[in-house]
Amino acid sequence: MQVVLATHNAGKVEELRRILDGTLPGLEVLSYDGSEPVESGATFAENSLLKARAAAAFTGLPAIADDSGICVDVLGGCPGIFSARWAGPARDAGDNLHLLLWQISDLTEEHRAAHFTCVAAIALPDGTERYVTGEWPGRILPEPAGTGGFGYDPIFLPDGHSVSAAELPDGEKDRISHRARAFGQLIPVLEELLGS
Ligand code: IMP
Repeated sequence: MQVVLATHNAGKVEELRRILDGTLPGLEVLSYDGSEPVESGATFAENSLLKARAAAAFTGLPAIADDSGICVDVLGGCPGIFSARWAGPARDAGDNLHLLLWQISDLTEEHRAAHFTCVAAIALPDGTERYVTGEWPGRILPEPAGTGGFGYDPIFLPDGHSVSAAELPDGEKDRISHRARAFGQLIPVLEELLGS
């Protein structure tokens, strides 16, 4: 069975291929070079469905997409869906992270709770749609640590760990992240919708 990954982000394609690889017999994950819609939704679910729907319409194949971001409790869940452009239209990962650090710089550890969220969606050309949500709880560190990962990883301390998401050993993030949690739940949905 073939599914299209509705993203142009090469890093994301790699990560999702690693997560999905070997999970369903015969699953072939194709990359996508069609147009990407404006992310005009007000929630992660709406945005992931917009992306999956557009790719299914463009390719005529089942399409899966995700939308993700970091949600800080004291900021009422922001940056949330605005994570990629929190510090402005340049979408600079370093600027985003430093703005967030500055905004909560006076807060002590107990007020720095946060989680990553990922909503994974599937859309079929016949209009069938489903989505699932994965969350990865932790807190925001006072300063960046580590060089691995991307985005907000250097300032995110996952619950139960003593190092930032950017310092986790190779492969560990793939197993425990919000994206792994969302796509883990999407596998049975793919099986139900696409299996034989
Ligand atoms: P998306 O590509 O629209 O899902 O936007 C995701 C944005 O959320 C990225 O640009 C990052 O800023 C942030 N983000 C999502 N997942 C992660 C992660 O695993 N690590 C660090 N930042 C992330």
